[in-house]
Amino acid sequence: MKKTQSKKTSGLSRRVHFPGDEQRLRWLPVLLDSYAAIDTGVAIAVRGEEKRRKVKLACTKGCGNCCAHQKDLPVYPHEVVGIYWYVSEKMASPLREVLRSRLAGHMPGSACPFLIDHACSIHPIRPIGCRQFNVFGAPCAEGEDPYYTRRHDVLDPLPDYTDRAFAAVLPFYNMKEDDSARAVRLIRSQIMNLQTYDWKKLVALLDQTAAEKKE
Ligand code: SF4
Ligand code: SF4
Repeated sequence: MKKTQSKKTSGLSRRVHFPGDEQRLRWLPVLLDSYAAIDTGVAIAVRGEEKRRKVKLACTKGCGNCCAHQKDLPVYPHEVVGIYWYVSEKMASPLREVLRSRLAGHMPGSACPFLIDHACSIHPIRPIGCRQFNVFGAPCAEGEDPYYTRRHDVLDPLPDYTDRAFAAVLPFYNMKEDDSARAVRLIRSQIMNLQTYDWKKLVALLDQTAAEKKE
């Protein structure tokens, strides 16, 4: 998926922090920990694949054909909450207004509405599926789905880190760790499609937030 910065594969990923918001919103550090686990797993997997196959990661800044053409972009309920928060509270104008317009006009099956000016407008909070979708060799051509054209160039995420990421969000779903395997399966069963999700609810939230600011 669309990257807003070049991949650094020489080290592990750093977790992003929103200190004030993380104190106020108990679910937020859980979500950010989950994403940090995913990013670390991706960094390790990319580094290993580049070394093993002597190929380079193709994903770079400004390369967003995947965001425009992929039809199965997974998103989970805890990720949607993160996106709502980020867009309504952290995203600055005029980007927020541009995104509002995109979301209002979004039609299921069209490009990801969060792709704006060849960049992911929700990059710090983008879903797991976007973080894990990485391609080696040549960048994806327009309309190309490398899963079908060259599966060998698509990164296989490390399952251990994916499991860790889902285990990290158990508190979000009020689930306990003693049944974590079953709980993770339950969370994963709630998978949705980012492109067919009803983002009009987020538009309504943005309108409500704007109206409250005027009062
Ligand atoms: S190479 Fe493919 S998967 Fe990677 S950023 Fe470009 S379009 Fe997306
Ligand atoms: S949220 Fe959309 S724009 Fe951002 S990385 Fe995922 S598919 Fe691309």
